[in-house]
Amino acid sequence: MQRRDFIKKAGGASLAVGAGLAGAGAADAKTQYKWKMVTTWPKNFPGLGTAANKLAALIGEMSGGRMRIKVYGAKELVPAFETFDAVSRGTVEMGHGSAYYWKGKSEAAQFFSTVPFGLTAQEMNAWMYFGDGLKLWTELYDPFGLVPAPAGNTGVQMGGWFNKEINSLADMKGLKMRIPGLGGEVLSRLGGTPVNLPGGELFTSLQSGAIDATEWVGPYNDLAFGLYKAAKYYYYPGFHEPGTTLEAIINKKALHALPKDLQSIVLNACRVVNQDLLSEYTARNPAALDTLLNKHKVNMRIYPEDVLKQLRKVSEEVVADLANKDAFTKKTYASYAKFYNQARRWSDISQLAFLQARNLS
Ligand code: CA
Repeated sequence: MQRRDFIKKAGGASLAVGAGLAGAGAADAKTQYKWKMVTTWPKNFPGLGTAANKLAALIGEMSGGRMRIKVYGAKELVPAFETFDAVSRGTVEMGHGSAYYWKGKSEAAQFFSTVPFGLTAQEMNAWMYFGDGLKLWTELYDPFGLVPAPAGNTGVQMGGWFNKEINSLADMKGLKMRIPGLGGEVLSRLGGTPVNLPGGELFTSLQSGAIDATEWVGPYNDLAFGLYKAAKYYYYPGFHEPGTTLEAIINKKALHALPKDLQSIVLNACRVVNQDLLSEYTARNPAALDTLLNKHKVNMRIYPEDVLKQLRKVSEEVVADLANKDAFTKKTYASYAKFYNQARRWSDISQLAFLQARNLS
């Protein structure tokens, strides 16, 4: 009864159940924190949804059960694209998604997901942790009462599913395609219409003809949605998403109400999942691609080289124009561009030179 009374009185978003109000020290070890995590993904969706589940389970395990986080799929508590506001308001303590979904809050948010022809997963993590990436991202979300953390990376994505061949940029004109973030801006500049839909709505939208084309993630996730049943061609590479960072967003008040060790556990569990998901994609994509090509006879195409060249030029213009939107976006662009130029020089003589050498026959 006492416990129930306490829960009733505590109300609000964060329930500190037990002896928590006694303050720091011995009492902290007994206090149990029950959090909710909303996500932009369908519940238990392979890779994306299961990464959110893993993050919650890991925090529970690392805290010895002092924290319990219940995960909700898109629409279970709030629609996918209300994740940011729900955590910002404190309706729930945590969210899992990707920052480019929040470009309506600030254009700068897109740099913390991915940039067309930009940083790879490996470079992105380097900018986040050893460059100014995470510092800038933290500054951007602070006025919203949120603390961000990288919590997953897809690696290089696929270009997407189309019902017509892409032989020139003119083929993108008039195309209504689901493509989020800056990739969408590129399509828009080419005369197409970018649409931002949550993952759960892609298949029916493509099948019904509400959209002409869609990108999602890569073979592992695209196979799970059955997108091959609704489109003829599967294009690569995903120039628009070379290494997309997924985010955990944490309500700042809720985070700071935790004892220091639990705060560290929450943020470091995000770091574990950030690496873990990239490994999962790297491991699962090859087999899923094999299934798509050999079992479902998918027609896979590479974008023609001159199309990629022109896409790159347009992408650079789109990203450079972003810098004129506002002071914070300008600052973020400057940091990203500086890091990109240095990282690329090194990647060209390490990753790229090696991958080319590995393919010599
Ligand atoms: Ca995507």
